[in-house]
Amino acid sequence: MTDTPAAADAASLAKENEALKEDIAAKSDLISVSAHSLRTSLTSMKWILKMFLDGDFGALTGEQKSFMEKAFASDERMIRLVNEMLSINHAEDMLDTMNLVPVDTVKMLEEINFDFTGESYKRGIELIFLKPATNISPALADSEKTRVVFQNLIENAIKYSNKGDRVVITVNETAENVEVSVRDTGIGIAPADQPSIFQKSFRAENAQKQDSVGSGLGLYTTKRIVEKNNGTIRFESAPGTGTTFFVTLPKAK
Ligand code: ADP
Repeated sequence: MTDTPAAADAASLAKENEALKEDIAAKSDLISVSAHSLRTSLTSMKWILKMFLDGDFGALTGEQKSFMEKAFASDERMIRLVNEMLSINHAEDMLDTMNLVPVDTVKMLEEINFDFTGESYKRGIELIFLKPATNISPALADSEKTRVVFQNLIENAIKYSNKGDRVVITVNETAENVEVSVRDTGIGIAPADQPSIFQKSFRAENAQKQDSVGSGLGLYTTKRIVEKNNGTIRFESAPGTGTTFFVTLPKAK
C-alpha cells in the first residue's frame, strides 16, 4: 500500500516522458523534411543566380551584377546553414511518422525537375522528365518525405554525372503501384560497391573523387522512407555507363 503513490508517480512520469519523446521526434522530423526542401529550393536559386551572373541571359550592368553577387553569397550562406541543420538533425528522425495521403507524383516530379533545371544546365547535363501521355493514379505516400526521396535520387544523378551526360526521369503505373525511374549516364557504381550503397555513411571511391562533400546519408534515408511507405527501391548500374534507380509506391485505392 505504502508504495502505491510512488508507483503512480513513476507511471505518470513515464507517460509524460513518452509524450515528450514523441513531441521531440515530430519536431525533428519536421526540421529534417523542411531542411531538405529548403536546401533544394536554395540550391535551385543559387544556380539561377549563377546563370544571371555568368551572363547567360544577357550582360548585366555593374550595379545589377553587384546585387546578384550579394544575393548569390547570401544564398550560399543559407545553404551552409541548412546543411548544418541536416547534419545535426539525424536522418532517422524522418522515419518516425508517416502521414500517408494520395500523392500526384507527376506534378511533384515536374516541380522537382524545375528546381534542378539551373544546376543541370550549368553543369552541362541534360535533365529530361518524360511526362506520361496518360494520367497516372495517385500514390499512397507521405508527400513531403516522398519529395525528399525524389530530390535525393535526382540530385545524385546530376552530381554523379559529367558534362554531356543525361538524366531521364520516367513515371508509369502497374495494377498495384506507381513506378518512378531516375536514369543517368554518369560515373556508375562499381560492382564491389553496389551491395553497400544503401548503408549509412557509405560513399564509393569514384563518388568521393567526383564530389568531396557528400554525407552518404541520402540513399540510406531514401530507402528507409520508401520502405516505410510500403514501397520498394532498387537500382542497376555499370561503371562508366550510368545508373538507374527504380522506386515503386503503392497506388492510393
Ligand atoms: P552522398 O551522395 O552524400 O555520397 P548518398 O547516400 O546519396 O550519399 O549515396 C551513397 C553513395 O551511393 C554515393 O556516395 C555514391 O557512391 C553512390 N551513388 C548514389 N547515387 C549514385 C548515382 N546516381 N551514380 C553513381 N553513384 C551513386
